[in-house]
Amino acid sequence: MTLELGVCQHPKRGSEQDLSSRPPTERKESLDDSVQYVKGVGPQRAGLLRRLGIETVSDLLRYYPTRHEDRRQVIPLLRLIGGEKQSTCATVKARGDTERRRGLQITRVPISDGVGQAYATWFNQPYMAERFKVGDCVYLFGKVNRFRGMLSIENPEYEVITANSEFASSDPDGDALQTGRIVPLYPLTEGIHQGHLRRVIFGALQKYLSAVVDPLPESLRESHQLLALPVALQHIHFPGSHEDLERARRRLVFEELFLLQCALLLRKSGLQAEFVAYPMMLTNRDKIRFLQSLPFELTRSQRRVCREALDDMSSIKPMNRLIHGDVGSGKTVVAALTLFNAVSNGFQAAVMAPTEILAEQHSRVFSDLLRPLGIPVEFLAGSLKGKERSAVHERIASGEASVVTGTHALIQDEVAFHNLGVVVIDEQHRFGVLQRASLVLKGDAGEQKGRRPHTLIMTATPIPRTLALTVYGDLDVSVIDELPPGRKEITTRWLKDRQREKAYEFVRQEIRKGRQAYVVCPLVEESEKLNDIEAAVQMAERLQRQVFPDLVVGLVHGRMGVTEREAVMRRFADGEIHILTATTVIEVGIDIGNVSVILVEDAHRFGLAQLHQLRGRVGRSPHKSYCLLVGHATTEEGRARLQAMVATNDGFRIAEEDLRLRGPGELYGTRQHGLPDLRIADLIRDGNILQVARREAASLLQVDTGLHDVSHGALRAALDKFCGGKLEKFLVG
Ligand code: ADP
Ligand code: MG
Repeated sequence: MTLELGVCQHPKRGSEQDLSSRPPTERKESLDDSVQYVKGVGPQRAGLLRRLGIETVSDLLRYYPTRHEDRRQVIPLLRLIGGEKQSTCATVKARGDTERRRGLQITRVPISDGVGQAYATWFNQPYMAERFKVGDCVYLFGKVNRFRGMLSIENPEYEVITANSEFASSDPDGDALQTGRIVPLYPLTEGIHQGHLRRVIFGALQKYLSAVVDPLPESLRESHQLLALPVALQHIHFPGSHEDLERARRRLVFEELFLLQCALLLRKSGLQAEFVAYPMMLTNRDKIRFLQSLPFELTRSQRRVCREALDDMSSIKPMNRLIHGDVGSGKTVVAALTLFNAVSNGFQAAVMAPTEILAEQHSRVFSDLLRPLGIPVEFLAGSLKGKERSAVHERIASGEASVVTGTHALIQDEVAFHNLGVVVIDEQHRFGVLQRASLVLKGDAGEQKGRRPHTLIMTATPIPRTLALTVYGDLDVSVIDELPPGRKEITTRWLKDRQREKAYEFVRQEIRKGRQAYVVCPLVEESEKLNDIEAAVQMAERLQRQVFPDLVVGLVHGRMGVTEREAVMRRFADGEIHILTATTVIEVGIDIGNVSVILVEDAHRFGLAQLHQLRGRVGRSPHKSYCLLVGHATTEEGRARLQAMVATNDGFRIAEEDLRLRGPGELYGTRQHGLPDLRIADLIRDGNILQVARREAASLLQVDTGLHDVSHGALRAALDKFCGGKLEKFLVG
């Protein structure tokens, strides 16, 4: 039998609107039941659903649609009007036929809704003829035209809502789920259709909603006008209106961000309660000595952040502070103060940087800052070998080395500190959480046994506020939000490939004025034959021979030995090299004031944060500086990045634009940070809710610090589930 049914006419709206007030069912339904026992699932489909991460009924109810389609206006075929885009629903009557006309392949599939007849028509998509089986009930949305006296819906969006083969076992009422309403669209896997998943979820809602317990305290729901969870779940899947959907979404987003903030705040207070540090106080005399030894006066922002760090360190709770601020805002000097404070209190201090070249620079910069105070700085990196290395190890173990800068080499097993009191981690985004933890654990040794060092983390670029509250939600955050006085705006230009000569000419002019330049080599993709080192070598040779034969061109890259690289950097710093060709090893931190221009090749291949970092290598002196981006953006996103660079020098705006372009997924990298995934909240769109959720989580935890109150049982359970059943681990990890 074919489907000459009323399904496609005016679908009934089931009584699901009032589900939450249904009388409780006899057997106690548990949301932890396997999804296999939900109507319409069974063992085989349960296996398919598992691929979507759905194991239990609860997973199913929380399997949110990615979007909805408004199918409230489904029009019977007879009432379709030519020339307009409309929705309809009909049954496939026969196999599609493909005809060639004037170089066009036209595929027509005959459809009927029992009363009217029409075609669904596709151009140059002959495979559409095979797409449907006779008897399939399909939803179509497209422009309606007339063809040989018949209506034709052209290139429609479509969805098979009831496959012919499926129909016998399906619930005819269920088809009111597919059209005539706002319909959910779910991410699928092979073997699971939209229509089917809708029916399954609908059935599960009917049966299980009464068992859903709301983790949000009622007072919180009331004060923020949040829907009760059962209602929100019903409406996120099957909303009666757009307003219903919006309110459901707001409630679920709030819940998710609230759970995230509870978890982060619990972790933060747990870490602080569990470990103790030695309090370190800086005398006024020492403070003055430090300030007087600096070659400049601190900005107001720097003074504030210094105060925050010193306050933290004076406590028995280990400092756990993140400093962020724009490139060149002067984060280093704050770190220097914490090192000085540790040493003044008789402790060792360590600074870890992600690359050797940056660690070397730290060692120079911190030496310059601390030498006037009589504090020597040691350096430890992988390139240090043999006797030299073991000598450094010994001085670290004996406590003779009071400040050590270095790379990952600092966290190797052989390194044992005498009494590590402060740890500074630079450019944190380059380190995983675990490496950060390893260095902190180094503090729990020697004289410091049983104690934790104070930790200061610096990032290279500013962090959008919403991200700071999530990725770094377990840290205290300080922002340096002003640049030292006298900085000039860097002028940024985006040049096309064919304007490269112009860019070189500009570089030459700057060098004639006595300035210097960086040329950053393009990133090389995996698939290309050259690796990035070879490409850099070739580029430096070409620049030297063909473009700037009369000038000195140098090269640094990541795989040079330290001595060689140091020699090049020193010659560049001394002005003997005019143009330094470099891979992105110069991206972070490098600080040479006389450089007034940075030219980035194939700039469209770099990320926005990376470009901003690279640009931060210039503009570090009174000389007017320039950033030349040479590149041919082939994607919309690539163009948007380069345009953002030209439009602003403000790292906070760049960071927000980056977040907008890349989306939180990649940047926020929850997994990489060991945080739970967000399913419905969007850190960009939902930034405001995030801040409210943070505030509410903090005030709840102030009253019930460990979340032990019985009235918060459901919240605690939800939190555990949110952390993948590993709340305890998350809290200490
Ligand atoms: P970043 O925040 O990018 O790490 P740095 O700490 O490297 O910035 O500082 C950038 C430059 O600004 C350095 O040359 C530093 O000596 C200088 N600087 C830092 N603070 C001040 C200040 N208050 N006044 C003048 N120059 C400063
Ligand atoms: Mg820095």
